[in-house]
Amino acid sequence: MTERTTRAQRMTAPLATSAVKILAESSGGCIRPVQLRRTDLDTGQVEQVMVPCGATLAGKCPACAERARSLRAAQCGEGWHLEDEPIHQPDPPDDWQAWLLEQRADAQKLRDHAATAGQDTDDLEQLIGELDAELVRAGVRGKPDPGKKGAARRHRSTRRRQDAPDLPRRKISPRTTGKVYTAPDGKTYRPSMFLTLTCVSYGKVRDDGTPADPGSYDYQRAARDALHFAALFDRFIQNLRRFLGYDLQYFASVEPQRRLAPHVHIAVRGTVSRAELRQVLAATYHQVWWPATDQVKFDGDRLPVWHEASGSYLDPATGEVLPTWDQALDAIGAGDDPLHVARFGPKFDAQGVLAGSKDSGRVHPLPDQVPDQARRRLPSSRHRRPGRPHRKAHRRAAI
Ligand SMILES: [Zn+2]
Repeated sequence: MTERTTRAQRMTAPLATSAVKILAESSGGCIRPVQLRRTDLDTGQVEQVMVPCGATLAGKCPACAERARSLRAAQCGEGWHLEDEPIHQPDPPDDWQAWLLEQRADAQKLRDHAATAGQDTDDLEQLIGELDAELVRAGVRGKPDPGKKGAARRHRSTRRRQDAPDLPRRKISPRTTGKVYTAPDGKTYRPSMFLTLTCVSYGKVRDDGTPADPGSYDYQRAARDALHFAALFDRFIQNLRRFLGYDLQYFASVEPQRRLAPHVHIAVRGTVSRAELRQVLAATYHQVWWPATDQVKFDGDRLPVWHEASGSYLDPATGEVLPTWDQALDAIGAGDDPLHVARFGPKFDAQGVLAGSKDSGRVHPLPDQVPDQARRRLPSSRHRRPGRPHRKAHRRAAI
């Protein structure tokens, strides 16, 4: 039986989505779970599976971010001082993983048949995509079908830039532990380090971070460096691992500086000397192969028009079909320069952390000291206080 209610009364009733969100949040559940449909091909029974979103930023999902944060803290606490390598033997797939892999193989077979027969493969490709995503979520590493590629990869010259020094490359051994140092008394140390990398200067800034001279400040470079910072950081870690020849482990947090340029704090297991860091930094860059942006082609009222039938944009004056992003990328020739080359600034801050020394009392336990991605906290507030003598006092990384 339903009672008659006024509109005002109905408006105060909780909205299903926000009520569920609040309930999920208050009970520590994921607020944006991914719903997957699982069909038993023998019985035809359909089951809905809810998988947590796995976000690492609290702004996206507080529960998942907190889970990720405590997992990292636990991993760090248990693993940071380990002296032996963890066992690398991959586990055999469990039932759920095996089931997914079977479905993946069947879907691939069906897709390939359909493709050869000239039939539409969209649905099957979507299914394969969903299964791949679910396999990743189920903890299966690598690609189930390495032969299959999405869009063909664009080939860019892999020649190193003339202005970047070469870096000796070693084969990366599966070792994750850093160097061991032995003191005269026979005691051994396996030091770690905190490292902060920043972007180059784009011009002088005032105390509040705004440019002292807006006319000469390189806003464009600042924006592009920020945009491609993550790729540059990946390249740095890759170079560092190749240079050191082992699978160096780290926890890192990217944060905006006062001038809004990103910088990254990295807690590194093992140490790297200043000279080595300088060498790796000088050789690290990220080239951005995007179409040129120096000429504004459409402006004001003269904007490209969307053409529904062809699924592309047209030139408003000539009606000409405009190139897609991919076509514009393909048009970049071998003789063209990259749109942008991102690099770290030459200045960096490296501080050694010696387990077993009096310093380690300060930095131990490590879980509180490593960067907290979910809350974007600094590994240590020291970084923000200028003019303190600690920087020199703790510079022990450069061994
Ligand atoms: Zn979530």
